[in-house]
Formats: sequence, C-alpha cells, structure tokens
Amino acid sequence: AKETGRNNYQFYTPAMNERALERLRLEGDLRLALEHRQFELHYQPQVDLCTGKIHGMEALIRWQHPAYGMVAPARFIGLAEETGLIVPLGAWVVRTACMQAKSWQDAGLGELRVAVNLSARQFTQKDLVKSIANVLRECGLAPHCLELELTESMLMDDVERAIGILRDLAGLGVQISVDDFGTGYSSLAYLKRLPIDVLKIDQSFVRDISIDPDDAAIVATIVSLAHSLRLQVIAEGVETAEQLEFLRDHGCDAMQGYYFSKPVPADQFEAMLRQGKCL
Ligand code: C2E
Ligand code: CA
Ligand code: CA
Ligand code: CA
Repeated sequence: AKETGRNNYQFYTPAMNERALERLRLEGDLRLALEHRQFELHYQPQVDLCTGKIHGMEALIRWQHPAYGMVAPARFIGLAEETGLIVPLGAWVVRTACMQAKSWQDAGLGELRVAVNLSARQFTQKDLVKSIANVLRECGLAPHCLELELTESMLMDDVERAIGILRDLAGLGVQISVDDFGTGYSSLAYLKRLPIDVLKIDQSFVRDISIDPDDAAIVATIVSLAHSLRLQVIAEGVETAEQLEFLRDHGCDAMQGYYFSKPVPADQFEAMLRQGKCL
C-alpha cells in the first residue's frame, strides 16, 4: 500500500486496480457459489464407434452466476485452483457425477461410464484416493464406471509420485484417462509405465484432420500407439461427418463432440438416453 497521508493508505493504483478488483470479486463470489448451489454439471455423450451408441459421458462444470449468467470453466477453474477452492469444488463434482451415473444406471439406461476432470491440486491432494473410495461406496457406483481425466503435465511433473497415486487409484478399480493427449510432453518411456486406460486425443488435432495431412498422421499415430500399449483411444472435438469417418477408418474406439451433441444439462442428457439416440 502506498502512503498518502498520516493515516491514509491508498490500497490500489489505477494501473493495477481494474483486473485485480475483478479477480477479487470473482474470488469472493466463487467462495459463496458452492454454498449457494450455483454450480451444475453438464454432460457430453461419449459414443462407441463400433456400436454407434452412447456408452458414457464427460461431466463438465458450469457456474450459474447471479449477475453474469453462465460462466465458462475456463474463467474460474484457474482461480479455484490458485485459491484452493478447487478441492471442495472438485469433491462436489466427483460426488455429483457419480450419483448421477448411478441413478441413470438404476433407471435401466445402461452401464454408463462417467468421466470427471481432475485438477493438478486435486490430483496431488493427500486424501484423494480415500475420498474417491468413499464417494464410490456411498453412491454404490461400480469403480470401473468412474473415469478420471488427468493431463500429461500432471503426470509428467513428478512421474514417480504420479505412478504411486495412479497405482492406488487403479487399486480401487477406477479408469484413468490422459486428457488433451499430444499437447503436453509425455515421455513414451514413462507412458508405458503408467497404469492408465485411455488416451484422449486433443481436439486441436481433430479439427483439421480431413484437410491437414500432418494432423491426420498425428491422429493415426496416436490411435496405433494407444492400441499397441493396450489402451483405449477416444477423440474429442468431433464436429463433422468427415472427421468421424476418418476416426472410424483408423480404428479409434470412441468419440465426443458437437457432431453428436454439445454438453447438456442432466435432464436433456437423460432424454437422449431414453430416445436411444445413436450415430
Ligand atoms: P476439457 O476437459 O478438454 O473439455 C472439453 C471442452 O471442449 C469442453 O469445454 C467442451 O464443452 C468442449 N467441446 C466438446 N466438444 C466440442 C466440439 O466438438 N468442438 C469444440 N470446439 N469444443 C468442444 P468446457 O466445458 O468449456 O470446459 C473447458 C475446460 O474446463 C475443460 O477442458 C476442462 O479442462 C475444464 N473443466 C471443465 N469442467 C471441469 C471440472 O469439473 N473440473 C476441472 N478441474 N476442470 C474442468
Ligand atoms: Ca476433459
Ligand atoms: Ca480435453
Ligand atoms: Ca487399468
């Protein structure tokens, strides 16, 4: 703080005020949002490319802010991470997604698998494995129906520690997928040692798959890499029939993207399941 008079302190200067204030406001709002139940999960179908049917979904968080309306996760996940709020928020996401999956299963809508994004801070949190185990037990969801999405940087940051955590998670029986695969710095040597189940091809490679031969080659390579490591492979950001066709021709196992459906609220997702919507 800058001293302006005897007992007067000017706490911010015009240069720093605008953005810092906006951040502070959002941070304050974020703290209240969990209590005030302003978060909800949307679900985006994951479609099996052999059967053409929905076999699972990714849970994606949304913030219904009282003044700003729907706030995208890109605008608040980083802040939640920095402030530590991601820990209770992430726990809420895991619990809500598992309860939803179980309730759709119980309604006879199929053995759905739900994918949940974990943040770096959640991943290295001491009691992660215990808290996931608790949620699964309380919801009665079969562990293999929960898939945790992690990024390459989370895994490669401290590989030995990551291997330890992954082994414990694998011990519970949950599935692990590597999100945004290809955008980080995975070492193939390490990839082989990690107990993971799924590679998720980043949407930046899928986008130009039918016009850019380099992207086409990258995607084809990731699919065959995954299969030779006995991993499943799913493509995200699939928006066109051409992209879908390429992925199917190259043996990709599953896909997710606007071509099939955007992420939608739970009731709309349930309607898709009841209709038996397929490719
Ligand atoms: P992500 O995990 O890579 O999620 C995929 C993003 O791509 C989602 O954006 C989704 O709506 C969008 N998407 C899906 N299909 C298409 C498509 O065909 N075309 C295009 N252009 N985009 C598509 P969203 O929901 O805004 O989420 C952004 C990011 O926020 C996520 O990226 C994830 O990193 C993070 N996030 C979302 N929910 C959570 C959460 O519950 N916890 C944590 N830690 N992070 C979350
Ligand atoms: Ca994801
Ligand atoms: Ca992704
Ligand atoms: Ca496994």
